[in-house]
Amino acid sequence: MNYQHLIEKIYQEVKPSIGKGKVANYIPALERVDVNSFGFAMRTKSGEEYFVGEALKPFSTQSISKLLTLVLCLNNDDSVLENKVGLEPSGSAFNSLVQLEYENGIPRNPFINAGALVITDILLSQYTNPEDEILFFARELAQNHGINYNIEVRNSEKETGFRNAALVNFMKSYGNIHNDVERVLDCYFTQCSLEMSCLDLVRAFSFLANNGTHSNGQHILSYRQNKKVNSLLLTCGTYDAVGKFAYRVGLPAKSGVGGGIIAVIPNEMTLAVWSPGLDKSGNSVVGSLFLELFTTYTGKSIF
Ligand code: GLN
Repeated sequence: MNYQHLIEKIYQEVKPSIGKGKVANYIPALERVDVNSFGFAMRTKSGEEYFVGEALKPFSTQSISKLLTLVLCLNNDDSVLENKVGLEPSGSAFNSLVQLEYENGIPRNPFINAGALVITDILLSQYTNPEDEILFFARELAQNHGINYNIEVRNSEKETGFRNAALVNFMKSYGNIHNDVERVLDCYFTQCSLEMSCLDLVRAFSFLANNGTHSNGQHILSYRQNKKVNSLLLTCGTYDAVGKFAYRVGLPAKSGVGGGIIAVIPNEMTLAVWSPGLDKSGNSVVGSLFLELFTTYTGKSIF
């Protein structure tokens, strides 16, 4: 298949939709991003790379960082997740508080904010400086030492992150957070401010399309763990729109309110798309459309 030709064709097809949706404005620094930005990159299991648009431009990964921290956590020891975080879709917004009280402070899954905050707490117990570990991990996986946090975005979210503060405090009251609340929030806001490009993302997460083995031969996850992560991406990776996303795109994926989506075609390739206009659930409008057309034209949805 001529992928370069195909992705250019899809780019032309989605162009009229670029600019639709709303840039996340609850984090003031994200509001300044141009809604008309667009990038796409893909990397096949054998290492071929194709891209279109602003695929090399770093953007705010936001919730895509939750995938990175989950993998880092599993990479250490997957038993640490037991009893601390669930494995079910939440059916509610990524920053919702409602389920936590019914379910005794145990978040539904590691990809909603509450679940990711628990993972951050676990990393804080495992490492003296998890911010450095997360950054080094991202740099090593993407083979790009220019990857960094955006301190302005971090500070901006810190000033307005009252909901995340409520989530951590609430879970702490149930004994599901072990470190200092402020420390957990600091680390979480920092990880969310990580900036990567579409190309960085497809390189970094190439192991998800290769049973846990990175293209440089490094074993990041076991086959079993990799299967679990991809299943979680399919069932929980796109917030409360996960059913619709699976219906339209049919791939395990993780989105972030920076407008990025990373998707996996197991045993074949990783795809990353960035377009900051979001739908009501916080998923990129054009990103979702691009991936929908990609799986439709290639016949490569997992279904
Ligand atoms: N930093 C964002 C938050 O906590 C991440 C949310 C997201 O990308 N869905 O609200």
